[in-house]
Amino acid sequence: MLATSLLFMTSALYAEAIGGYSAGCLKNAVAMPLSGPGYQVIRSKRLRYYGHPDLIHYLQVLASRTKMAGMPDLYIADLAMAHGGPFSSGHRSHQTGLDADIWFRMANRPISKWEQDAPKEWALIDEPSYRVLPGRFGPQQLNLLRLAANQPEVARIFINPVLKAEVCKRAPDEPWVAKLRPWVGHFSHFHVRLRCPAGSPDCQPQAPIPPGNGCGAELASWLKDKPQLPKVSMSYRAPTLPSRCGG
Ligand SMILES: [Zn+2]
Repeated sequence: MLATSLLFMTSALYAEAIGGYSAGCLKNAVAMPLSGPGYQVIRSKRLRYYGHPDLIHYLQVLASRTKMAGMPDLYIADLAMAHGGPFSSGHRSHQTGLDADIWFRMANRPISKWEQDAPKEWALIDEPSYRVLPGRFGPQQLNLLRLAANQPEVARIFINPVLKAEVCKRAPDEPWVAKLRPWVGHFSHFHVRLRCPAGSPDCQPQAPIPPGNGCGAELASWLKDKPQLPKVSMSYRAPTLPSRCGG
């Protein structure tokens, strides 16, 4: 026990996010314990449950808050790999241990090993009509976003534009709404991105979010046409990582 906490403190002391969210790496990551108060990690076989200690701390605090608010356990999906860097599949970001995917669906009971490996996705949006499925984005989901976004270390949260529009209807005046950034996909989860932590001098921050709550013209432009992944993604090549990431 003592050894474990000492190990945690040591790596917490020297952990470092290096480079950009989509071209970077992570030194001395911490593994997210696979379950804890208020959460369960899913798809752990993929070994994407490592993060900067600030991210692990953030997720554990969030899960304790949602638990205190009476919510079921959170499903925590991809964080980063043990040394960060690009995934072989899935997303381009999550490279510096500061990004995490959290499902909107929650777990009312401990999940089986089978479910842990292959949890059932639970889309909130009907893709053909691009509308929210009835009953899927309820008060708990709104409150989850509120608790997740309303922390100073959170830089932004990526969310499907249809869900951002729902939030804009229900809570337009709450300041955290500005942090919700529309993005393609994200039918069943949202993606939290933390700011560059202290002690990571080579961490590259993203540009600040524009002023306003983002509920007006910007969101309308996302909703006008069903957004598609840019075609360029087909010819995507892995970015060059900073030299400190070992090439
Ligand atoms: Zn993500």
